[in-house]
Amino acid sequence: MNEEINNYLTGILPEQEDWITRLETEAKADHVPIMDRAGMNFVVQLVRLTRPENILEIGTAIGYSALRMQDASSDSFIVTIEKDEQRYMQAIKNIEALGKQQQINVIQGDALDKLVELADQGKRFDLIFIDAAKGQYERFFELASPMLNPNSVIISDNVLFRGYVANPVDVPKRYQKMVEKIRNYNKMLMNHPDFKTSILPIGDGVAVSYKMKEEEVLLREG
Ligand code: SAM
Repeated sequence: MNEEINNYLTGILPEQEDWITRLETEAKADHVPIMDRAGMNFVVQLVRLTRPENILEIGTAIGYSALRMQDASSDSFIVTIEKDEQRYMQAIKNIEALGKQQQINVIQGDALDKLVELADQGKRFDLIFIDAAKGQYERFFELASPMLNPNSVIISDNVLFRGYVANPVDVPKRYQKMVEKIRNYNKMLMNHPDFKTSILPIGDGVAVSYKMKEEEVLLREG
């Protein structure tokens, strides 16, 4: 998104609680990518509005976004998956320090495996947040979306990846494949028969995909 606008939106955010700043500082010091403030503010707002009972997050990192979502909707229960062992340990530490271990269950492992296990266990979710390896978003979506209840939302972060997705000229070589994959992902989301998607140029680009109710799908199919 336009940097000026993003800076403005970030700049007018009200003062935040110390624990949030502490986690942001920890992520920065350890070079762990976490959601930007403006994007996080928007996701938290969606969580507040929808009050999901069960949330699934793909990509925990140090637990920042899981803790922010849980803070916005204290009755929500979150299952979050992280591949990296060190980040998993940091997330556990941060979640325990805030006493949220009853509400946030961190699973360590590759989401591509863990999503299959969750589906086999018959798990259902009311909101899914995808924020892990960008090249695999389509696969994450395929595996996670059947576990989403109708009339619920999937949020995907980084779908405009540094502006390259909307303007794929001069994309550094190391990002070209990933940008192509995100473009295909966005196209899939926009044309999915069971979802209605809106992409917002906030932060690094956030897609909000609403899973229609069965009646809505049937009505549309005539
Ligand atoms: N959602 C976090 C936040 O805003 O606080 C940030 C997540 S960070 C952008 C992405 C995380 O996804 C990384 O910590 C990375 O190790 C993890 N990850 C990448 N691929 C994964 C996979 N296949 N399964 C599980 N975690 C994965």
